Amino acid sequence: MTIEGLISQRLRLPSPPAIAVKILEAVKQDNVSMGQLADIIASDPALTARLLKIANSSMYSLRYPVASIDKALTVLGVNVLKNIALSFVISEELRGCGEEGFDIDYFWRRAVTMAVAAELVAKFVGQPNDEAFVTGLVADIGILLLQRDDPVVYRELLDEHCRRDVPVSVVEKERFGFDHAELTATLLANWGLPDKVTVPVRFHHAPAEVQGKWQDTVEVVHLADQLSAIYHGSDMGRKVSELQALMTSRFGLSQPAVTMLVDSVAEKAREVFASFDLEPGEMMPYSQMLEEANEELREMNLSCEQLVMELKQARERSERLAGELRQTNTRLRELVLRDGLTGLYNHRYFQEMVDHEIERVRRYGGCFSLLMFDLDHFKAVNDRFGHPVGDLVLKNIAEATVAAVRASDIVARYGGEEFAVILPHADSAGLRVFAERLRRTIESLATEIGGEKIRVTVSLGGTVFEAGSSHLEKLTVIDTADRALYQSKALGRNRVTIFPLEGSRRNGTEH
Ligand code: GH3
Ligand code: MG
Ligand code: MG
Repeated sequence: MTIEGLISQRLRLPSPPAIAVKILEAVKQDNVSMGQLADIIASDPALTARLLKIANSSMYSLRYPVASIDKALTVLGVNVLKNIALSFVISEELRGCGEEGFDIDYFWRRAVTMAVAAELVAKFVGQPNDEAFVTGLVADIGILLLQRDDPVVYRELLDEHCRRDVPVSVVEKERFGFDHAELTATLLANWGLPDKVTVPVRFHHAPAEVQGKWQDTVEVVHLADQLSAIYHGSDMGRKVSELQALMTSRFGLSQPAVTMLVDSVAEKAREVFASFDLEPGEMMPYSQMLEEANEELREMNLSCEQLVMELKQARERSERLAGELRQTNTRLRELVLRDGLTGLYNHRYFQEMVDHEIERVRRYGGCFSLLMFDLDHFKAVNDRFGHPVGDLVLKNIAEATVAAVRASDIVARYGGEEFAVILPHADSAGLRVFAERLRRTIESLATEIGGEKIRVTVSLGGTVFEAGSSHLEKLTVIDTADRALYQSKALGRNRVTIFPLEGSRRNGTEH
């Protein structure tokens, strides 16, 4: 179907109200008089208000505000006002065209942005043009007609355009044989709009196809389209760079100059939206957006840095705390296991270690020896030198004992002046050798106090726990060693007695 066919048979064209018809009539005449136009506009108070609002907007940057249509006409000129009036009338008429799923406000915001951009670009490149605004505004209204004609098909078409990432007009040509720019131009021509509007509309997607006198006007609308696209849709940065490159090569404009133009389109469009009953939404000048985005980025970086630092500090804190906790635990455990005076293991730990050794022998065989010893006549030492000196003697003996054993042996303070040594893997021969060596070591040990040497001896008793006696209990083991010790006492002290465990085959021997 041809465009003409589509327009005449299928598209339900809006029937313009009287005012639109009159303005269209006025537009067709090239030389409509001020009085005529003022009369037409004055007959519609709403239109009058809109026109004054836009005339006073910063887009025209008039030196003084205008309060009447007559004044606006003198300041802006008949043509400009005529075209603005036409813009309002057309947008009003097509306002209700959005079918379900089509964002009509988005369409009009983009259209108004394009109108403002066309107006500003035309002046910026030194080709002011009375038709620029209306041309930008209506350039894409063919889209409205197409989506109204068949919303489902047009929705599919838009989806395809997004999916394939090709211009809408390409997909339109594939489907309909023409694109919305051609449709718009045909429609506007039918309405009686002049070539000055319809030609730029027809070619604003493809300025390269136009040569000669229309070239500049087409280019302005093409640039306006690109500029409007910056504020509607994604890829803002890329679109700005492309526009800058284009305007630099085509008009020799500097990058900052183009940025200024891009910014001022947003500023002015926001103002003009109100005249078209459109919400400005989140639209703001490109530079401001960039600034805000950078600010956000800076804040994010800062908070990220802060976060990393706090995390690091927290980790250091927790590592330090964990270290302290480990130390405290070790200290606590030592406190619980060690004897305060001598630093030897205490009675409790001794008991645990005997259990442990018995268990080991029961499981894996082998043996261990238990040696206990008690200081001889220690009471006399205390009585003669005092308790603190007695303590010192105890400490020295403890130290000497630790020095005499292997690292795997366990030396404990069993009670007041009674000690115990657990010797893993030592049999009775080994026990005897060690006990005798320890007896001699302590015998020869002297604690010097005030030039006097205090010597003490010890009585030792031991026993061996081995696989053959593994049915016996801990109590028996300790009791046997203890009895051996008292046997040493009974036999005159400073000696070693080894008793076999009761129930073992060996006989007791003494030294
Ligand atoms: P023996 O064992 O040879 O029969 O004579 P003893 O004088 O050592 O006799 P007894 O076992 O009855 O006395 C133990 C003494 O050890 C009594 C107590 O004053 C002393 N004693 C026990 N614990 C400590 C201690 O921690 N420090 C000091 N200085 N003396 C202690
Ligand atoms: Mg004693
Ligand atoms: Mg004692």
